[in-house]
Order: sequence, then C-alpha cells, then structure tokens
Amino acid sequence: MDFTATQCQVCWRVQDKAMDRSPCAVWWDLQTFIQTYDLTPHDLSFTEGYCPQCTQLYRRLTQDHLHDS
Ligand SMILES: [Zn+2]
Repeated sequence: MDFTATQCQVCWRVQDKAMDRSPCAVWWDLQTFIQTYDLTPHDLSFTEGYCPQCTQLYRRLTQDHLHDS
C-alpha cells in the first residue's frame, strides 16, 4: 500500500488523510499512525507541513518576539 500523509516538521506527528473531510483533522504520532493502519514506514511517503498546534505556537512565539523588539 502506498500512503501519503502530511507530517508536521516540528513535532513529527502525521495528519490522517482519511479524516481530511472532517472538520478538524486528526494528527497522530507516527507510531500510532503506523499501528492504526497496519503500515510499515516503507509504505509511507510524507509531505512537509505543520500541525495546527505548532502553527499556533509558532505564531505566538513570533508575536512575542515582535513585542520584545
Ligand atoms: Zn506539530
């Protein structure tokens, strides 16, 4: 099976593509993702991305930084 998933470049969790149509996308840690879909890392190809939590954290950090300067 060939499986493409978006992987967060900060926390390395992966987005569940099958859940794309749901209002909030599900982000798994890699181990859980592989076990849930019974995959091997070989089956997976990743697209670089950022999960909502890390995006929010990054925004907050950059905003704090802007306030400092
Ligand atoms: Zn993340």
